[in-house]
Amino acid sequence: MQNNQDNIVAISTANGYAGVGIVRVSGSNLLKLAEILTNTKQIKPRYALYSDFYNSDNEIIDTGLLLFFPAPHSFTGEDVIELHAHGSPIILQMLLRQCIRLGCRIAEAGEFSRRAYLNNKLDLVQAESIIDLIYAESDVEAKGAIKSLKGSFSDHIKKINDKLVNLRVFIEASIDFPEEDIKFIDDFHVKEKLEHIRTEIIQLLKNTKQGVLLNNGANIVIVGRPNVGKSSLLNAMANEEIAIVTPVAGTTRDIIKEKIIINGIAFNITDTAGIRDTNDIVEKIGVEKALNEVKNAEICLVLIDESQKINNKDEDILSKINEQIPKLFIHNKIDLTNNHVQTKSINNDTHIYVSAKKRLGIDLIQTEILKLIGFDAANSSISFVARTRHLLAIEQAILHIENAFYNWQKLELLAEELRYAHNKLSSIIGEFSSEDLLGEIFSKFCIGK
Ligand code: GDP
Repeated sequence: MQNNQDNIVAISTANGYAGVGIVRVSGSNLLKLAEILTNTKQIKPRYALYSDFYNSDNEIIDTGLLLFFPAPHSFTGEDVIELHAHGSPIILQMLLRQCIRLGCRIAEAGEFSRRAYLNNKLDLVQAESIIDLIYAESDVEAKGAIKSLKGSFSDHIKKINDKLVNLRVFIEASIDFPEEDIKFIDDFHVKEKLEHIRTEIIQLLKNTKQGVLLNNGANIVIVGRPNVGKSSLLNAMANEEIAIVTPVAGTTRDIIKEKIIINGIAFNITDTAGIRDTNDIVEKIGVEKALNEVKNAEICLVLIDESQKINNKDEDILSKINEQIPKLFIHNKIDLTNNHVQTKSINNDTHIYVSAKKRLGIDLIQTEILKLIGFDAANSSISFVARTRHLLAIEQAILHIENAFYNWQKLELLAEELRYAHNKLSSIIGEFSSEDLLGEIFSKFCIGK
């Protein structure tokens, strides 16, 4: 990352032809630059100036709007200029070159957002949510990203951190009065406070898991013995022909992945090869891949051919699937039986009766999928978006809180564990972040953001 004092410039709108295109500059003393570009002294902060834009030979490059945001009241916290010109790649390049002639350099990927972070305009979670917002694949995801950008996730973390700080201050102060510590601990209700923090952080973990699902899309994997209708179900759920459907067992030898949107939430749905013991080498690889997919899945759809009796192959598949993964049992091909479309609860398991080929009951599967990941109609509040990085930090913070709980009467250990937990949570919003982490986060941005 280059010197933070440089003036940086980038074309902020997408590459291509459009009605309007925007060039953005951030740095210091930009009023002078704006005056040279427009050949006027009429620039008023935060007012749109309709003007010609000039090159160094005093020729007009284009006519458009110039906006000047003096520091610190701008996106980056520095002086910022936006040039709204016609959305021609040539015009925008000419404006970019003119800004470079006037002393700017081209911004690196994510440099505007990085400066906003370094100038305390955004915390790390908010900066990350900008990318999530730009790349959102559904309106629900976009709404979640806006929540994060507006600070909903960060506020949750800060609230817990405040409580941790409060407790830490007390514990560390009481270390200085060792003869009093036990009484101190009781008077200050240390155990109750720890318990309260633990409850809150576990709730935060739950919300963050949902946020990660919203961001990345939950993984659903379809398993079942050959010919039960897995590919047909994938097609029915994706509403198009993706997998090859044939009456010959073992056609889907590899993994087919498809992104589907259910009620605005993205899911990565995977059709696996028929899980079964086989000597066919190619199919065997497919089977291994299938079992691997199950490990990474949030939901497993276990497909059963309702027109045939459940046999030991079905039983065998079940024995290979991890107990912990939420499952839905899908009874397919009901058009060949007397059964009708329905959802039944049997021994706490959900069984859904459908026909993939006739596309009957697919909506019931979708409803149960949403329920399983906590986005059902009864729970319509949209979570903030989050990332695996956040989840890992919260999990580690929980471990330290558990250790603190275990050592709650040993002041030094308790203080240390609380400090670790506090640092982990702070790293999410970027209060204690290394250069490496910043580099990794901001390099994922595009130029001009
Ligand atoms: P896979 O091997 O589990 O992926 O199964 P396929 O999706 O390739 O389907 C195997 C056969 O079952 C094909 O001939 C499908 O047309 C048929 N099939 C799938 N779903 C249904 C269904 O709901 N009803 C009927 N009658 N046939 C189905």
